[in-house]
Amino acid sequence: MPYPPFMEESIRKLEVSRQRRMKEEIPLISSDERDIIVRKYHPDYRETGKRKLLLGPNKDETMPEELVNQLEGNSRVDPDKVDLSKIDYDVDVLIIGSGGAGLSAALVAQENGAKVLVATKLRLGDSNTIGAEGGTQAADRPNDSPVLHYLDTMGGGHFENVPELVWAMARDAPMAIKWLEDVGVNWDKETDGSMRELELAGECRRRVHSCKDYTGLEVMRVLRDEVRCRDNIDYIEFEPAIELIMDDEGQVAGAILVNLETNELSLVRAKAVIVATGGLGRLHTQGFPTTNHYGATADGLAMAYRVGCSLIYGDSMQYHPTGAVYPLQLVGILITENVRALGGQIINIDGEQVACNLEPRDILASFEIRECTERHKGITTAARNVGVWEDIPLIDMIHGEGTIARRLPSLVHKFSRFNIDLIHEPVLVYPTLHYQNGGVRMDANAATEIPGLWVPGEVGGGVHGRNRLGGNATLDIYVFGRRAGREAAKYAKEVKLGKLNLDHVRQWREELEQLGIAKERPFSPMLLPNYARQPGDYLAALYTEKLQPGLVKLA
Ligand SMILES: Cc1cc2nc3c(=O)[nH]c(=O)nc-3n(C[C@H](O)[C@H](O)[C@H](O)COP(=O)(O)OP(=O)(O)OC[C@H]3O[C@@H](n4cnc5c(N)ncnc54)[C@H](O)[C@@H]3O)c2cc1C
Repeated sequence: MPYPPFMEESIRKLEVSRQRRMKEEIPLISSDERDIIVRKYHPDYRETGKRKLLLGPNKDETMPEELVNQLEGNSRVDPDKVDLSKIDYDVDVLIIGSGGAGLSAALVAQENGAKVLVATKLRLGDSNTIGAEGGTQAADRPNDSPVLHYLDTMGGGHFENVPELVWAMARDAPMAIKWLEDVGVNWDKETDGSMRELELAGECRRRVHSCKDYTGLEVMRVLRDEVRCRDNIDYIEFEPAIELIMDDEGQVAGAILVNLETNELSLVRAKAVIVATGGLGRLHTQGFPTTNHYGATADGLAMAYRVGCSLIYGDSMQYHPTGAVYPLQLVGILITENVRALGGQIINIDGEQVACNLEPRDILASFEIRECTERHKGITTAARNVGVWEDIPLIDMIHGEGTIARRLPSLVHKFSRFNIDLIHEPVLVYPTLHYQNGGVRMDANAATEIPGLWVPGEVGGGVHGRNRLGGNATLDIYVFGRRAGREAAKYAKEVKLGKLNLDHVRQWREELEQLGIAKERPFSPMLLPNYARQPGDYLAALYTEKLQPGLVKLA
């Protein structure tokens, strides 16, 4: 037994109540009740930890202060010291970021005749996508349809989603799954060869396609191989973008990259730019731990905002209800929603169910917060973290011995390293920052309000309203990544670039100075959270956030 003795008492209660709970059916709550519980307990509705933006397209809107700091940040580039006539890379389509959205866009842009460059912050494929566990939605069964998928997604998003984006996603979904299979993804199959699909919270049909519980790893294996093999796609690793470049026609025309090892800058001129930098979990809004990889620091939001793109639902975050709380080394990591789909229940210190395990994520997260705060029915660890149990062993009782090992091998392995045996023991969970529901405003091809710039994937916003359903984020990235790749390649054939400039950076600096906040704001994009191992003294100095703007060392 790896859990300390003081937790054992509540584990015993959980075990005693299992037989009873197997037959217990807790109904889903009504939409009015959902509204009440979310408003009272969900972190998005807290009054603290938020601030109004003082400048930019979303001026006067309130968002989490960690995000506001990035959006209002100082550029890492001194426009007066950058020689825009010295171009290092000249391409049709520049793709910033190498997760699922970026690599899908790269492949389709290349298929449409573009010369493509992928510039990425860490190694090719280091991303949230590679960590995706549960799977990807697509209505491809005879009893399902994109219309049902559309309705479920709108309901999950509290009907605040942008309808044309949801329809584009639901409609393209079966094609996206097939495309991935054609390029080599091994989706889980039933013995008759049909897709094995799960029903996650908020879905009226089984439509989540997975590769056991390491779906993102399998998909990225294939996408990375494909990108590496194709002519006309180059990639650069450890060179994040730190600023977009404009031209005198008001079009986005490239980006400035920084080499994380040497601190040298590279200039990319591109006829079209696709920002696919993903999310912001590493900003830890409201002080929550996160499921996200180290590169998820809102870089794309900050860069797009500075060139004039507005954000939609920048105030709406997804706190996934099942983030690990124990052991300390795993705090914040994701326990896939597939556990709940297979019957895993959320249980308080007395062995009672907290809510129906198929409530949407924001609702269940709110229930858990209520249980651990107002009701004092959580389990507190020695590190003073609090959580409720997720009863994983129940899955084998429902579906037969061996199911957990077969369906959740990666999860079982992660905890076995700390002597926790998830086949026989529950796991302690609490909400963890997982996803930004909003992002840069875009159309159904992921095009922004600024010509020459596309934002597919988690960096884009509007598809999921104020709450994303499980399996729709990885779908979003393939659908809008592909659409962006196609449109950007088409646009690159026609556009004429003007003279390059960084006037937006100058203007931004002036506005910050006029407001008297330049010295108070950090540099953005953040690139890496300040607790991560820093790549070198020079960038580490930047992260102290005490230096004046414009200090990026020029090559
Ligand atoms: C642990 C985990 C499990 C998940 N499971 C699921 C699931 O089962 N189903 C589902 O639908 N969704 C899931 N999600 C959500 C989903 O995986 C993500 O929303 C989605 O993969 C995001 O894809 P993306 O391509 O937009 O961003 P990412 O995959 O995060 O890729 C962003 C890329 O941009 C790079 N980057 C960032 N900043 C810069 C910069 N300045 N310059 C250059 N490159 C930069 C990053 O390093 C990365 O390569 C999960 C998320 C996590 C964290």
